Amino acid sequence: MSAGPAAGRERFPAADWLGWRDALDQILSRCEALPTERVEASGALGAAVAEDVKAAVFHPPWDNSAMDGFAVHAEDVRGATADNPITLPISDDIPAGCFPSGPLPRGTVARVMTGAPVPEGATGVVRVEHTDDSRNGEITFFQESDAKRNIRRRGEDIQAGDTVLRVGDPVTPAAIGVLAMQGMRNLVVRRRPRVGVMSNGNELADFDEVAEVRAGRRIMNSNGHALAAQLVTAGAEPVMLGIARDDAEDVRRRLERAADCDAVISSAGVSVGDHDQVKAALDDMGMQRVFWRVRIRPGSPLTFGLLGGRPFWGLPGNPVSAMVTFEVFLRPAIRKMAGHREPEVPRIRARARKAISSSADLTHFYRVTLSRVAGDLPEVELTGPQGSGILTSMSAADGLLVVPEGVSEIPAGAIVDVIPIPGDWL
Ligand code: AMP
Ligand code: MG
Repeated sequence: MSAGPAAGRERFPAADWLGWRDALDQILSRCEALPTERVEASGALGAAVAEDVKAAVFHPPWDNSAMDGFAVHAEDVRGATADNPITLPISDDIPAGCFPSGPLPRGTVARVMTGAPVPEGATGVVRVEHTDDSRNGEITFFQESDAKRNIRRRGEDIQAGDTVLRVGDPVTPAAIGVLAMQGMRNLVVRRRPRVGVMSNGNELADFDEVAEVRAGRRIMNSNGHALAAQLVTAGAEPVMLGIARDDAEDVRRRLERAADCDAVISSAGVSVGDHDQVKAALDDMGMQRVFWRVRIRPGSPLTFGLLGGRPFWGLPGNPVSAMVTFEVFLRPAIRKMAGHREPEVPRIRARARKAISSSADLTHFYRVTLSRVAGDLPEVELTGPQGSGILTSMSAADGLLVVPEGVSEIPAGAIVDVIPIPGDWL
């Protein structure tokens, strides 16, 4: 691991490149959960709960009806059928938002709407469809099947004191609903990681120089924008550091702007064959390199280290490599920093539609689509050409098909593992 980048030119892959699992372990062991903060739940979507939340109130708060109908004593409607209807007087009328006037007197029924409290003593709510209310102040029952049903008991969902959210749970829309149900506007989460995003290269331009791109003299800094968006989908806050020219002083100036960031991503400029200025600036700033290449494709020229004690990723410049290494190495790290219980996104099992051949010396992450198949696992298919500069292979992809080292052929129909690419739904 201590060998310099030049060693990589001798053999491919070189003996000191890490396998991807080892590389991820090295990264995760150096990423700590960030401090906690109390925030409004409405702005915390995607963050991780950092303090258990205990319920303050019962839900539902009272025994209530699951139907529009009539609260009854079961004995009073026993044996009711179409041929043997039973008619009883209505002693109470309870719309939603009102309370019963008292316990249900025997031999009477109470009209009750869905969600409204049922009177004490009632054993069930007979749905309105099984009754006839044509008589004045009386109701006729044709069935007894609901006589002991359709009451939602107080606290059957949540009891005061129950733990409703646990440390490490994601703040989902449903979690926000549970908090709101409890009258809780705020909760304690881990702070969102602030992550600096720097691009490198004299060939790059951004939107302020788009004319240069249209004229065919530069290429757009697409990595900066794609990586920032990936950070957002991972629950992090991107801090744009712009494009560093191949100039040590420029690199240093931009990295200094990341002083209040929790981590930094730099794309291009720190791998084999890159301009020395970037590496020189990093060395000069005291970057401690942990590893510098990984046995994967795309994305083998991935550098990871600590810069000022904070995680620093030197991602490859090729647009696909940058995005794939983000999904494989950055997303889990950011999730760990943000306090999620499971750093890695659960994989999807799928079936290969066609045979896929791979090279056994590296773990491959192929860009694939997932299609639903009735009664079977989803089917995966390559998005098309898999070159590391083909960004549309990524934009068309639903996930990354993992073909581990040592596997040179996936037969058609084989069951495979796919890392889903979150983003569609945020
Ligand atoms: P490098 O890692 O500098 O050798 O770059 C590899 C390839 O990625 C080259 O074709 C670069 O032009 C391209 N590249 C580097 N940085 C970016 C970026 N920020 N956006 C888009 N392409 C990039
Ligand atoms: Mg470059």
